[in-house]
Amino acid sequence: MTPEAPEKQKKLSLLPSVDEVLKSPEGNAWLSRFQRKVVVRAIRETLAARRAAVLSDRPGELTRDSLIHDIQALIGRNTSFSLQPVINATGIVLHTNLGRSVLSDKVLSNVVAVSRGYSNLEYDLEAGRRGKRHTHTRRLLREITGAEDAFIVNNNAAAVFLCLNTLAADREVIVSRSELVEIGGSFRVPDVMAASHAVLREIGTTNKTHLQDYSRAISDNTALLLKVHQSNYRIIGFTQEVGIRDLVALAKKQRLPVMYDLGSGCLVDLKPFGIHTEPTVQEIVRSGVDVLTFSGDKLLGGPQGGIIVGKKKYIEKIQKNPLARALRVDKLTIAAFEAVLMEYMDETNALAEIPVLKMLFQPPEEIRARAMTLASKLKRAIKDVTFTVMADASKAGGGSLPEVDFPTFAVSIRPAHISVNELEHRLRGSSPPVIARIKGDKLLLDARTIRAHEIKGIVDTLTRCLS
Ligand SMILES: *Cc1c(COP(=O)(O)O)cnc(C)c1O
Repeated sequence: MTPEAPEKQKKLSLLPSVDEVLKSPEGNAWLSRFQRKVVVRAIRETLAARRAAVLSDRPGELTRDSLIHDIQALIGRNTSFSLQPVINATGIVLHTNLGRSVLSDKVLSNVVAVSRGYSNLEYDLEAGRRGKRHTHTRRLLREITGAEDAFIVNNNAAAVFLCLNTLAADREVIVSRSELVEIGGSFRVPDVMAASHAVLREIGTTNKTHLQDYSRAISDNTALLLKVHQSNYRIIGFTQEVGIRDLVALAKKQRLPVMYDLGSGCLVDLKPFGIHTEPTVQEIVRSGVDVLTFSGDKLLGGPQGGIIVGKKKYIEKIQKNPLARALRVDKLTIAAFEAVLMEYMDETNALAEIPVLKMLFQPPEEIRARAMTLASKLKRAIKDVTFTVMADASKAGGGSLPEVDFPTFAVSIRPAHISVNELEHRLRGSSPPVIARIKGDKLLLDARTIRAHEIKGIVDTLTRCLS
């Protein structure tokens, strides 16, 4: 027995039993609010952690207060939702970690209407027999994009995978080395290709790929020419890539299909906003590409989904792949897509009604006005801290438009008594959590992604965090 053992024994014996905690005033209060099972588990786990800490010589605080506090916190964690709303004050509109696109009330009310009861998800009301879930979005997608046919799966990664597997399993797909991108998470073009059983035939160099590189690589075993949007990075300087029109012309001559993984996929013309690098889905469809895939929750501003549009003969084949069933979308997604796509029937309307587009392209004066409102409310509520409105730039996020800086306005905070890192941490731990941006020795709340109804919550949260 080590000399400290009696000391440890003494500390252990001072810990209450589960029963003693249950009978305490706090225990009674918890039992009146939560299921017994939940309370007992939290007490057991907290006591076990205390015992383990004592035995491993890291006893920490062993007071009654700290024990009660920890049990209370554990009950709180175990009885609240893990996935919860947060306030995005980063200015990044398509923040993948914060759920990417935001849906409008109108879209959400369609999701509620369709999913709170039964629906004609796979029922043809006219014929009175089984229908197909994809008919609900096909008409709108055809009309908006000008494509012959359309199909939606779980996300764009699934769309790319399904298309490659259908059109090129065990055969070669020709891709430029400059387009073998990693999007983040686990989407890497060579890996998706391997998983789909397509054989990657890479051509060209990192910075330059010529049409000849494609034509030289074509053989009897070629199934597809693939173009991939570079999304979150750019190659600048001494560069060359083959445009989609040239690729389509070459493929036509060789009787091969061309597929384009567009990543973001924008349905409105961004040139009026000074963005000339992002052709619309409609323009790419017009170039004659056979299959085109893009995300539902990037620039489109809808729910998570992977949209496949293109020539009927290919889309039909893709739909018949047995894996299509494994990647199919749920009725909530279809209801949301139908409502979002409906907004795109008129481009001006889409820009006014789709939250993601509104946040990206709102005039900077409007962002500035919201930042001023927030700053003046903060000044009124919190006295010894300075709040200033400053001009800055925000990013689109989600791998979309990486080269574009969106002029924005943010409320800049320099806390007096705590560090910016501590303030950022406290805001993140609040309810609702506020996610902010640190720039040098200041904390920035970017008004681009802060919605008017969130201002009061931010003021209350900051008041608590800075007191
Ligand atoms: C974002 C992106 C993907 C993945 O799309 P998800 O909808 O996130 O699955 C695939 N390819 C490109 C080029 C992308 O930009």
